[in-house]
Amino acid sequence: MSEPFLTVTDLHAGYGAARVLQGLSFTVDKGDVCAILGPNGAGKTTLLRALSGMVRTDGAIRLDGAAIAGRKPEAIARRGVAHVPEGRGTFAPLTVEENLRLGAYPRRDRPGVEADLARVFGFFPVLREKRREAAGALSGGQQQMLAIGRALMLRPRLLLLDEPSLGLAPLVTQELFHLIGTINEQERITVLVVEQNAHLALGISSHAHVLEAGRIVLSGTASEVQADAKVVQSYLGYRV
Ligand code: ATP
Repeated sequence: MSEPFLTVTDLHAGYGAARVLQGLSFTVDKGDVCAILGPNGAGKTTLLRALSGMVRTDGAIRLDGAAIAGRKPEAIARRGVAHVPEGRGTFAPLTVEENLRLGAYPRRDRPGVEADLARVFGFFPVLREKRREAAGALSGGQQQMLAIGRALMLRPRLLLLDEPSLGLAPLVTQELFHLIGTINEQERITVLVVEQNAHLALGISSHAHVLEAGRIVLSGTASEVQADAKVVQSYLGYRV
């Protein structure tokens, strides 16, 4: 049997003396959407940072058979890991198109970059309309689309999304999650999505893990986690 696309084994990470991740182990199969749920401070953001090389880690991370733990963020990005951070990280004074082109920075294949710009505009037509406008002038939902679009310009194999719904109106969030589902299906990109809105995240995910104080306390298929609503509620403080 072939190895899972992403294998995380006994992963520890933290900031100086603050130990946040306390030995996480899980796998994600190629093309799956995996949700990481959990209350504030559980370590969800730290997990994404660990996967993209932004915090020091102990333990093993294998991506498509290659060990990536301890590598620099640029090296991990070159292996196809694109991270859309909480708060989006787009450059407000730059135009939409400039932001998208920045996402392709590690790539050398110019014709491919042009094709991918068209591909991103296909997913997010509003970004084509606003391509010459400053990113800072976009609505919150459009800025999140831009952040995801910029990540797609890397032609990622693994997309890490940190709280895409943060600060967005419910309808905008629904549209965004629908688009994330479409991108996953059409591009066969493996997605790891951290979300407070468990219901929305489970709606597009095949599997989910609930984190609490740096440990996985519940894992399963999205429907198993959904069915375990009582447990989820006790960890998340609300129903899914
Ligand atoms: P949230 O939804 O609130 O972002 P989270 O599950 O993503 O929560 P993390 O952001 O990973 O949680 O934070 C986990 C713990 O690590 C928290 O106790 C937080 O205070 C701490 N922490 C996060 N970033 C840093 C940092 N740069 N330096 C020190 N401690 C940090």
